[in-house]
Amino acid sequence: MGTSVAFSTPAATGKEQHHQFQQLVFHTMQEDNDRLSCFLAESDISRLNAAAGSDTPTVIDRETHELLTLALKIAAESGGAFDPTVAPLMHLWGFRSSTRTADYPTPEALAAALDRVGWQHLTLSPATAAPPCSAALQLTGMGLDLGAIAKGYTVDRACEALLAAGATDFLVNLAGNMRSHGRPAPKRAAWRIAIRDPLHDDHWLGAITLAANEGIATSGNYEQYVVIDGVRHTHIIDPRSGMPVTGLISLTVVASSATEADALSTALFVLGVDGRHELLAHHPGCGAIYLTDATPPRLLVTAALHQRFTPAPAWQTALTLIE
Ligand code: ADP
Ligand code: MG
Repeated sequence: MGTSVAFSTPAATGKEQHHQFQQLVFHTMQEDNDRLSCFLAESDISRLNAAAGSDTPTVIDRETHELLTLALKIAAESGGAFDPTVAPLMHLWGFRSSTRTADYPTPEALAAALDRVGWQHLTLSPATAAPPCSAALQLTGMGLDLGAIAKGYTVDRACEALLAAGATDFLVNLAGNMRSHGRPAPKRAAWRIAIRDPLHDDHWLGAITLAANEGIATSGNYEQYVVIDGVRHTHIIDPRSGMPVTGLISLTVVASSATEADALSTALFVLGVDGRHELLAHHPGCGAIYLTDATPPRLLVTAALHQRFTPAPAWQTALTLIE
């Protein structure tokens, strides 16, 4: 997945035990990487993409099927703002080339890529069907890109494996996609997560207290982008227009799982502050922290997090509590 993972346990866990749990996290994530990577020709996702437009469904692992089911659910709930078939648009904007610089696409190229994007054209074998699971992309040239949900999913799977192995207190953090369990130290009731300040190195926006077993994820415009004519374009694309999204610098989501937090952070990024209501209504208890790209930036925190978010001193005046 092109990134690194951090795994924390309380000091009392002991070195040997910590090492065993750490190996379990790594092993679980390696398995998911082998299923979900676009860079491995034999992965479920690469085989599905290579078979796009053919009449024969591709056999995939149960876990891949489970993840694609979750992705389609968020796609439907978000009216297509989140779309796991966004691959042609990522290619169009130069995100899959090594130099990360591109030209603006022509209207014709944009229209052609948009024609090949659409979660409704991803079909899955029924959940109730006998194994093996399968999936199909119905249009030639379509492609899956699970960059907005796979990291959260593998964090959840690692947590399940840890719980099954008897771990009780831990935090798994895959590039800002996190899930916690238990407590960080005997005297501390809950894990507290500081959210990075994207505008000032080594500073933070604020801190959030996680309830037991919650997931948290941050999407930002500041780490992954392409530069065209000197202008930065973020790697989050609105699948409805085909355009890179503007309006936010970062967005953090707390949800009941890391998968949900990961996918919702991308979906809510696309929907923008004003477009959040319908999707949040599907996920009661889920909360969002927006940093807008207005001058000066505004820090907006939704209802579920009002009691649990503490802004850093420098951000207190920018903070607004919203519904
Ligand atoms: P990060 O990878 O930095 O954690 P995100 O979770 O927001 O950030 O995922 C962004 C990635 O998701 C992109 O690199 C791309 O692979 C994919 N993507 C971009 N736009 C969308 C979208 N509208 N719906 C689903 N996936 C998207
Ligand atoms: Mg995401």
